[in-house]
Amino acid sequence: MSLKYPWLESTWKSWQSRLENGRVPNAILVDSLNGYGADHLVELFSNATMCQNYESEACGFCHSCLLMQSGTHPDTHLVSPEKDKKSISVDQIRLANRWAQESSQLGGKRIIVINPAETMNEAAANALLKALEEAASSCIFVLLSSAPHKLLKTILSRCQRWSLEACDIGASLSWLQSQTDAQVSSEILKLSYGAPLNALTMINEGSIEAYKALSDTFIEFISNGSWDTAAIASLLKDNSQQQLEWLWLLLSDTQKVHFGLQNESLLTGANELAKHLDYQLAYKQTEKLRTMINQLEQFPGLNLELLLTDWLLGFK
Ligand SMILES: [Zn+2]
Repeated sequence: MSLKYPWLESTWKSWQSRLENGRVPNAILVDSLNGYGADHLVELFSNATMCQNYESEACGFCHSCLLMQSGTHPDTHLVSPEKDKKSISVDQIRLANRWAQESSQLGGKRIIVINPAETMNEAAANALLKALEEAASSCIFVLLSSAPHKLLKTILSRCQRWSLEACDIGASLSWLQSQTDAQVSSEILKLSYGAPLNALTMINEGSIEAYKALSDTFIEFISNGSWDTAAIASLLKDNSQQQLEWLWLLLSDTQKVHFGLQNESLLTGANELAKHLDYQLAYKQTEKLRTMINQLEQFPGLNLELLLTDWLLGFK
């Protein structure tokens, strides 16, 4: 298997040089936001580590490579939340601990991937600490996480952090264009926080049009002064996480307009919104929106409509 995503090329090269030089620790934390293809990199890394012929890539024909291709290599394990569960349990980590202490079956390395690592519950995380201490030297733990701040500090301190290098916008855009017949603009990357895989999903789901409709409605709300907060709050209730993130980006760009940063690629609507919203209020409401998004993520049971109405009234 070769590298599928061109924006990961420099990161993959640096990982390969670590493989070639034998600079691979026993515990690695790969931190990356979703939608960048980090799991694909970890797959390439596992394949290369398991290959019996080469150091930094999979030859594709040795016994190990064939087992990896069929998904039956006895020395690689993936630990993820079980079906219909949200977290990784302590029993799953205890099992991983047993694998970690055994010598590998094919005489090479053993790899245990934990993904997403932040879904380990507290007991599981504590069991992992023990596993990291007791693991055989030929065992490599790879933790994948888009929210490493949710991991125990003691786990973080035991892992070497392998971050993904920033995506090259040009490479991401030309890849996106090769995946779709639709016209791709940099706006979609902005709306997906630069994550090309999420951007592709958004293109396929017609999200650009959805964003533009949202931005039109929002500008209409701000500019006409009728303050029908109930109507807009009910509109934002559907797919709220996505829509609130978009509004956050739009308001951030509106602040940029006030700062005179028109040369940057700004989201559709930012220039128009800036005509109706002064800098101070835009700033205040952007901050308040971020707080609300964080609250909703932390406490999903909160009354969304109430929070939205309160926030919207802040524009008055
Ligand atoms: Zn091989």
